[in-house]
Amino acid sequence: MVYADVIVDISVKSLDRPFQYRVPPELLEDAVVGALVRIPFGRGNREMQGYIIGLSGEARFDVSRIKNIQEVVKQGVVAESHLLSLAYWIKENYGATMNDAIKVVLPVKQEIRQKVQRTIYPAMQREELEKLAALWEKKHYRARVRLLQAILESPASWEEGLDHDTAVRQLPVTTAVVRELERQGVITVETARKYRNPISGGERDVPPKLNQRQQEVVESLLSDYRRGIRGTYLIHGVTGSGKTEIYMQIIQEIVDQGKQAIMLIPEIALTFQTVKRFYSRFGDRVSVMHSRLSQGERFDQFTRAKNGDIDIMIGPRSALFTPFARLGLIVIDEEHESSYQSDMPPRYHAREVAVKRASMVGASVVLGSATPSLEAYYRALQGRYRLFTLEERAGGAVLPKVWITDMRQELEENNRSVFGRKLMALMEEKLKRKEQVILFLNRRGYAGFVSCRKCGEVLRCPHCSVSLTVHQRQGKIHHLECHYCGYHISMPGTCPQCGSKYIGAFGIGTQKVEELVREQFPYARVLRMDKDTTSGKGGHEKILEEFAGQGADILIGTQMIVKGHDFPNVTLVGVLAADLSLNIGDYRAGEKTYQLLAQAAGRAGRGRKPGDVVIQTYQPEHYSIVAAAEQDYQAFYRQEIGMRQILQYPPVSNILGVLVLSEKEDQARKLAALLAGQLRSRQDIQTLGPTEAPLAKLRDVYRQMVYGKCRDYRVLRQMKNQMEQYMREHEEYRDCRLQFHFNS
Ligand code: ADP
Ligand code: ZN
Ligand code: ZN
Repeated sequence: MVYADVIVDISVKSLDRPFQYRVPPELLEDAVVGALVRIPFGRGNREMQGYIIGLSGEARFDVSRIKNIQEVVKQGVVAESHLLSLAYWIKENYGATMNDAIKVVLPVKQEIRQKVQRTIYPAMQREELEKLAALWEKKHYRARVRLLQAILESPASWEEGLDHDTAVRQLPVTTAVVRELERQGVITVETARKYRNPISGGERDVPPKLNQRQQEVVESLLSDYRRGIRGTYLIHGVTGSGKTEIYMQIIQEIVDQGKQAIMLIPEIALTFQTVKRFYSRFGDRVSVMHSRLSQGERFDQFTRAKNGDIDIMIGPRSALFTPFARLGLIVIDEEHESSYQSDMPPRYHAREVAVKRASMVGASVVLGSATPSLEAYYRALQGRYRLFTLEERAGGAVLPKVWITDMRQELEENNRSVFGRKLMALMEEKLKRKEQVILFLNRRGYAGFVSCRKCGEVLRCPHCSVSLTVHQRQGKIHHLECHYCGYHISMPGTCPQCGSKYIGAFGIGTQKVEELVREQFPYARVLRMDKDTTSGKGGHEKILEEFAGQGADILIGTQMIVKGHDFPNVTLVGVLAADLSLNIGDYRAGEKTYQLLAQAAGRAGRGRKPGDVVIQTYQPEHYSIVAAAEQDYQAFYRQEIGMRQILQYPPVSNILGVLVLSEKEDQARKLAALLAGQLRSRQDIQTLGPTEAPLAKLRDVYRQMVYGKCRDYRVLRQMKNQMEQYMREHEEYRDCRLQFHFNS
């Protein structure tokens, strides 16, 4: 007898363990690990679905009590079995039910009705059709005649047929007419399954000859690979240093060896150029998976990957779970991007899961960034990742000149505009020369904090080194609070540093910037890219393409515009409110600011013409800003890692955030306090909180947060398991839910 361990498809903690079922002989062939099955469940034998996660020859219970699997759901997707082990690892490391973790690794569960291509062929000789057409003409069968005429007039009807859907739409004829003619034997309709390819062809490009540094990187990586060495590599290369070209040439060799590759990118809409480059290099052996695809399109890509019809999958976080059977390489471009961490439970990080999956199947991982995450760089320096550095731009373009404008000084000298004088002067100059300008408004952390316009002071938590967040009551600032430890003060009337009354929560929107630009430069053509102007399919691409085609002189936007694009005619990037992101009340604020500024600076002077960057800030002495202006990652890293060391933040230590959710506020508070107590009972954990989460209440659910820091990740994982256990055993908290945030 064969028995199957089945995880029931509902996310309830108490059912989050495998149940054993018997596999009846007629299902043996289809009941493989990863299959979706129908089973009778519980006392009432309610029909449910579940996944087989293991098979064995031994019953763990009294055989008379083991039920049979009813059916294997045929169109259910079967997971590569290592993906199920990966799901288990995700559940253990990030906190989730097994069922939720399985959903992460099996992104498409049910087959969607496939798009078919139908073609109409004539089933008679030309003369016969002509006769029939004449006859029907007399009888006024107009639709039938239209269809026959279309067949007769198209030169290749007898060889290639007519596309059914086009004919129906354009002639037009109803499908009933088509069926009737088919029934009469006048025509035949043939069906072929068609894969929906979300992007179609184009010219194939020729790989350029690598420069010496690129060649060295590719060679060392591939020589490891050829010798059977698998590892994780970090390519730290300034924007434009040719990293993408390196990925493509490594992938080429891996694919030539019969292996498959996954290429993760932060977000398709913003990295469309990268996707296009892959298509023109690898043609239809590439596919993309992203959130804008229809269910059917996703399923097709998934099937093609599984069947081995493609070698390369490009996509965001979720593409990591592409069911390749011969996976040889995972590339993560712009490795530092926060979109690689899931914002829904389980809150896994693609970088870590990639390294895990690669180690399970004998693949290598390549991480690339101009501004590596502290995690990746720290590990590289520890020797856990192999580090490559590229310091020069590939096409010979030079890095831009960077200017810092101290906005306090501007105020001092009576310039109250959002544009400093340097930026104004350079804009005028560039516009005169018909070159393009990008104005980047750093909106991260927008208006959530309090600062002084006179001296630049930002109000911070004395314990956690993050800015205090504004809490409002009735539309007014009520008090300021720390997200981590709950420290709070009332809103001061003057700046505690310099005594000025220019203190408050400041902010400006892209729309306002556009207005001001139009006022100052009435002759310039302006484009704005933000949430309002990019809604709808292809919204980003349209704006970016218009700007790339020089349909505008100035592009104004938020974080969206600083990523990955290549605009050769842009010679000036202005960063407004550069320091806003220093104040997101998060220990990664300095890191995010450095990344944003360095990426923004990387947009200038990508072509032959030299570029300028102006960074406007109230905190010109902050190390993130100074280092970004000098494009000096190492200097930034040394400062930042020092701060993490002192305050025991990742990657030096680990931090577990436990989010307690409940519709009953007192329950949420009680449980949070209790869990904080559990953490405090451990000597090796430093506990913060409980405190209200940054969003203290969301859709009527109260949110409390507790943090624990510990050097040893395993200790935090163990605490997570202990809390999960506690929740299973304590009925009184059944109205509460927990979410775990590891190192995020
Ligand atoms: P990154 O990914 O580091 O930003 P890219 O691979 O996009 O860099 O390269 C930047 C630009 O330089 C691109 O336009 C690319 O086509 C070009 N490029 C890269 N490598 C070479 C090379 N070896 N020879 C010529 N041009 C190159
Ligand atoms: Zn001040
Ligand atoms: Zn604090």
